[in-house]
Amino acid sequence: MDDLSRSLLNTYSAQPLDRCSLERKKSTWLNNQYTNTSAEYLVLDDRSVVCSKCVPVILSHVQFIALNLTIKPILLGLKKTNKTPVFLLNINEPEQVLESISDSDELESLSLREITQDIDLDLAAMFSYATMLNHWHLSTRFCTRCGSKLEMKEGGTLQQCTNESCSHVEYPRINSAVIMRVTKGDKILLARQEYWPEGMYSVLAGFVEVGETLEHAVAREVMEEVNIPVENINYHSSQPWPFPNSLMLGYTAEATSDELDFEQDDIEHAFWLTADELKEKMAEGILYPSSSVSISHSLINDWFIEQTGISIKEFKSNLA
Ligand SMILES: [Zn+2]
Repeated sequence: MDDLSRSLLNTYSAQPLDRCSLERKKSTWLNNQYTNTSAEYLVLDDRSVVCSKCVPVILSHVQFIALNLTIKPILLGLKKTNKTPVFLLNINEPEQVLESISDSDELESLSLREITQDIDLDLAAMFSYATMLNHWHLSTRFCTRCGSKLEMKEGGTLQQCTNESCSHVEYPRINSAVIMRVTKGDKILLARQEYWPEGMYSVLAGFVEVGETLEHAVAREVMEEVNIPVENINYHSSQPWPFPNSLMLGYTAEATSDELDFEQDDIEHAFWLTADELKEKMAEGILYPSSSVSISHSLINDWFIEQTGISIKEFKSNLA
């Protein structure tokens, strides 16, 4: 399997929208999308997804026009399958704004993390992109050079300073984070932080710092968190992580020592496990790997398949 195929297996990664980066520079093309009557509107309430009975609300063009809003929606892109334009609409107090469309008692704002496993993968990827872009618009309102107001350009994938003598262009920011599966022989290193749900374990992760390579970040984070050196650092796959704006870069690495010391960082507990030991603990119900929504699960699961020939999901269903 190549890197692209591995990444596409991660939640939020298989994006059904074409961003149309070149087309959106042309005002006629852009205006045509804003007036397209087949357009769809994903509704967010700042960082949350507006849902009706736990299903995300997606407005039609007719419904959007009927709301008569003053805010301009952000063009996410066109569906690759049928070229339907898909917009992002940020609405605060959706119960009031959407009362003509939906029974307000049924509306609630839920985090994408809460609903991801209940919606289809295409929708999860679109809402992931939408929440990250929305986060940027909500947190970047003024020019970082001169402090003047910014205005949306190219349908909202960039913003430009309104001070003509400045005209600085701002692009969306993402935070890069490395996440790494560390192994030694037939054992995997699993760790947990104090505030995580009881029994949940994952692989190590941390933000990339200014001026370092991804591989250096992997080695530095493992050293900081558990005080062991690693070698054979290899790329695995990536995942957009919209909580609120990260790109997770998955790696594998081999430890050259197994003497863990996790006293000095935010790790509550870390230990080495063989696949048999992991099976035992999962069967006893005292340990479970992080949610399948996260790339950490793919990193652990791929190792589990190599060791046992079956996935964690298959192992669990055999237990039931
Ligand atoms: Zn400026």
